[in-house]
Amino acid sequence: MARYTGPVCKICRRHGQQLFLKGEKCLTDKCPVKKRPYPPGLHGQRRARKVSDFGQQLREKQRTRRIYGVLEKQFRKEFALADKQQGPTGENMLRVLEQRLDNVVFRLGFAESRPQARQIVTHGHFEVNGRKLDIPSALVRAGDVISVRSHSRESEYFKVVADTLARKKQPGWLSLDAVNMSGKIMRMPRRDEVDMEINEPLIVEFYSR
Ligand code: ZN
Repeated sequence: MARYTGPVCKICRRHGQQLFLKGEKCLTDKCPVKKRPYPPGLHGQRRARKVSDFGQQLREKQRTRRIYGVLEKQFRKEFALADKQQGPTGENMLRVLEQRLDNVVFRLGFAESRPQARQIVTHGHFEVNGRKLDIPSALVRAGDVISVRSHSRESEYFKVVADTLARKKQPGWLSLDAVNMSGKIMRMPRRDEVDMEINEPLIVEFYSR
């Protein structure tokens, strides 16, 4: 399954902000966004040109895509799905992104970052409503129960996670059962529960060109 495998904090520099693709790494000085606060590459230090409307739309789309770790083709599919739903397309799109199984695994606190969540999902450590599900892009909905599979709970990884789980804070639309290593989707997330700053109308404009 395709994903970006380059240096993650290079993406932080491209977008001029910490994206937490490796969890806490962005809070240390290993994330170069503060030391070298200009875009990577040969022309990174050139005087920034005025960014066109198109450039801004593209940048916002790319940044959001990188935050959720979705490649263009899949992102386009998710946008198309959001476009068909009732209500503002931009908000719908953010909701669809939040509904991704890898995102929910991250939000519940089973991983330090979305890329890590994606990996543990693909490795088959989770079930949804009692059935194994290893597709990171699968969309979960209200009422679904996501749990760590019983065999996986014995692994070193999940033993460590179990110790840290209680300290993590889940968004209001998710409820965590730390003892049983599972979480329930209580309802769909609201716009204000998407904690990254995203200007989603720009993305809608990008795809409506
Ligand atoms: Zn970083």
